[in-house]
Amino acid sequence: MRIHWLHRVTQLEYRSDHWSLQFADRPAVKHQTVVLASGHALTDFPQTAPLPVYPVAGQVSHVPSTPGLDALQTVLCYDGYLTPVSPQFATHCIGASYHRGETTTAYRAEDQQENRTRLIHSLPDTGWPEQVDVSAGEARMGVRCATRDHLPMAGSVPDYLATLSQYEDLPAQRLQGL
Ligand SMILES: Cc1cc2nc3c(=O)[nH]c(=O)nc-3n(C[C@H](O)[C@H](O)[C@H](O)COP(=O)(O)OP(=O)(O)OC[C@H]3O[C@@H](n4cnc5c(N)ncnc54)[C@H](O)[C@@H]3O)c2cc1C
Repeated sequence: MRIHWLHRVTQLEYRSDHWSLQFADRPAVKHQTVVLASGHALTDFPQTAPLPVYPVAGQVSHVPSTPGLDALQTVLCYDGYLTPVSPQFATHCIGASYHRGETTTAYRAEDQQENRTRLIHSLPDTGWPEQVDVSAGEARMGVRCATRDHLPMAGSVPDYLATLSQYEDLPAQRLQGL
């Protein structure tokens, strides 16, 4: 397999026996099969636009470890999550904020606080979550591709218009089959 990094596909076109992929910055290529793994940009193409997925922007906070926090041996999952210390960076991850329908990846100070507050509220009878310090503003922002039931989605891209027309008179088709 050959990997070509950093080339954005701008158009997908089916031409009798192959797919033609257009790019903004290089000549088009032909392929028999195309696998789309483009995250929340999945619906950028006319063929995939009707798929029921939506973007969810979010922020993970990176917080410095402390002599108490570094004892954590496993990921804590609550209304969010807190990871054990990263030996490489001496930080923990807490996350993550969830902005349904948004694609912005700008840093948000309020999301840092929200991530911290969620941890504190989830463990009201312990004092140590208060040690979690988000003030350095270290974070990673990204955009998820979500489905309404939060399950993963994989499979062939449907011909949406053909599906609509085939299913349009489904009750009548079922009656004919009886
Ligand atoms: C804040 C946050 C917290 C998260 N927390 C967790 C967690 O705790 N646990 C967990 O399991 N998951 C978590 N996730 C989700 C996880 O990051 C995603 O499920 C995972 O990254 C999806 O990988 P992917 O390869 O499908 O898509 P992505 O990582 O979104 O990659 C898609 C790629 O496609 C490229 N692309 C898009 N359009 C085009 C195009 N037209 N042409 C060429 N390339 C294109 C993009 O540049 C990108 O590189 C989190 C996500 C976020 C944002």
